[in-house]
Amino acid sequence: MNSLPFLTMPAHQVPAAIAEHLATAEEQIDAIVSYAGRPSFANTFEALEKTLQQVEVAVNCVETVEAVAGSAALREAWMVSEPAVTRFWNTLYLNERLWSCLDSFARSDTARSLPADKQRHMEKVLREFKRQGAGLLDRHKQVLAQIDAELQRATSRFEHNLIDAMNAFAFYLEDERDLAGLPNWVRKQTRAEARNRGCEGHCFTLKAGLVSAVLECAESQSLRRVIWTAFNSVAAAPPFDNRPVINRILDLRRRRARLLGDVCFSEHVLRDRMIGSPVAVLAFLEALMEKTRPFFDREVAQLRGFAVSTVGKRGEPIAPYDEVYLSEGLRRERYHFDQEELRPYFPLSAVLEGIFEIISRLFGCRVVEKTGEDLWHPDARGFEVIGPDGRLVGRFLGDFYARPGKREGAWVRTLEWKPPSGPQTIALITNFLPPGPDRPCLLAHREVQSLFHEFGHLLHFLLSRASTRALSADEVAWDFVEVPSQLFANWSWEESALRLFARHWQTGAPLPADNIAAVRRSRDFGIARDQMRQIGIAHLDIALHTGWPQLQGGDATAFARDLLQDHVLGDLPEEYALICRFMHAFKDPEGSASGYYGYLWSEVMEADIFSDFQTQGLFNKKLGNKLKTTVLGAGDSRDAQDLFLAFKGRPPDIGALLRRNGMVR
Ligand SMILES: [Zn+2]
Repeated sequence: MNSLPFLTMPAHQVPAAIAEHLATAEEQIDAIVSYAGRPSFANTFEALEKTLQQVEVAVNCVETVEAVAGSAALREAWMVSEPAVTRFWNTLYLNERLWSCLDSFARSDTARSLPADKQRHMEKVLREFKRQGAGLLDRHKQVLAQIDAELQRATSRFEHNLIDAMNAFAFYLEDERDLAGLPNWVRKQTRAEARNRGCEGHCFTLKAGLVSAVLECAESQSLRRVIWTAFNSVAAAPPFDNRPVINRILDLRRRRARLLGDVCFSEHVLRDRMIGSPVAVLAFLEALMEKTRPFFDREVAQLRGFAVSTVGKRGEPIAPYDEVYLSEGLRRERYHFDQEELRPYFPLSAVLEGIFEIISRLFGCRVVEKTGEDLWHPDARGFEVIGPDGRLVGRFLGDFYARPGKREGAWVRTLEWKPPSGPQTIALITNFLPPGPDRPCLLAHREVQSLFHEFGHLLHFLLSRASTRALSADEVAWDFVEVPSQLFANWSWEESALRLFARHWQTGAPLPADNIAAVRRSRDFGIARDQMRQIGIAHLDIALHTGWPQLQGGDATAFARDLLQDHVLGDLPEEYALICRFMHAFKDPEGSASGYYGYLWSEVMEADIFSDFQTQGLFNKKLGNKLKTTVLGAGDSRDAQDLFLAFKGRPPDIGALLRRNGMVR
């Protein structure tokens, strides 16, 4: 039986149940602010925490099931409830009585004598209230509310323009010869698309898988050019033009930051991150770029050499629409390695057992499947994680197979907290190809890697022993949250780990050693070009949010093109407008904007931590325990830099990432 009613609640009951939860929460908040006795941590911050936790558990469960169960009824039910939930949060932060109740308790002598974790809890809550406008003058609050509403509109306009512009594109080909090199599924899909539109031949759209298939495989350069150009200039012209929308978003974000006392948006959001400031981000990117540049140049030279030997282009620069094609060709020539051929060695059940074995060796925890749980879909499975002392550490609900209506991708989400130190429940969602009549669920290596990644998040969330939800692992600084997940993914590349589980599902034969070597080598292929591009995008994400509107006379598209030109190999054409589909920065009012650097930043940290396992043993239990006590178990009870320091004894070193990526001379 599951203890979370929202996971299996019939859709028609959801709106009333959510409304009831919100009403109860509002009553409890009223009780907090009208309490006449002596204020204490328990009747202020802790009481609020308990109230918010109930709301979050309900919302997390409904949102998760809505995303994976794919029922139209639940989607509709959630559309009714969602605005009420948004309203609840907005009112909460602007509740003047609540703010003064919290703020005045935090200033009291009683509060100042509380232990460090409670101090941190109070600081975090107050900071969040301030970021949402608490404590501002009334007229400033009004301006802030206006800005927020406009930002909401502008960012959804950005997303809708992009979707509409993507959908509006269609390119028709009649001659089969133009399809040379493309896999069969592309031919089928484009033929079906044309037929749907009442046309002969093939119709190319900008669907994600299709774009990369064309860029990787199409022998026709003109097809590659058409698709590349369309993809990289999408939403950059009327009627779905994101250029003015971007200007508007940047302007609103800058005004919002100023109103709250910061000079620019980046400064405003990075204050609470591990890295601390835009200046620190730029210095980090600069240092990484300097080290990456020589390897980037070397890879570019190799690709040029390959271009000369295959397509006979002597001395000409490589066009941007040829890069992926040439790069794939060179990769195939070097490694003869096809992800698909390895699937039989990675049945899901064996990969899971392998992961459980690694968890047991490193952390002494056992994972046990619990059958007979009542969940949102027959494919969803319940698991328990048992600690070395035999106590329940937490539960997770795994839903592994793709099915119609289920949201794509892989992710984990906390459904329920039970602090202090109580077991949590977490959803683990992936979208693997379901088993067929004659074979089990078989994974490509990139999916194995992604499953390890999600288990890294899962372990972080489950092992955290924080005293409250506000200090749990879910709440760590955004530029640290990917460290445990990326760290755990390292095991999926290591021979001794692969030996534990990579076996042919029919013959039981282990994955051949030369396949393992090929998997490992292909990981580094093109890595400097990739890293260089990432650095460029991360730099752009900061530059836009610090220098606006002085950039290039207000033309953000031209500014972005010039900046990125330094990070790619071919000449970017005039119409290049990646920025108009830069969802990461523009799809939410704040979201992950100014945070792109975080991928590289956390890679540096996880590579640095992982190097200890490489030298002291991949299954070294002592080291696993150290990781558990210093990083995973700490949740957000201390600043991220302190967690890292506690494990490594020094600040992060970019050398670790460079060494792992083979960028050492
Ligand atoms: Zn992740």
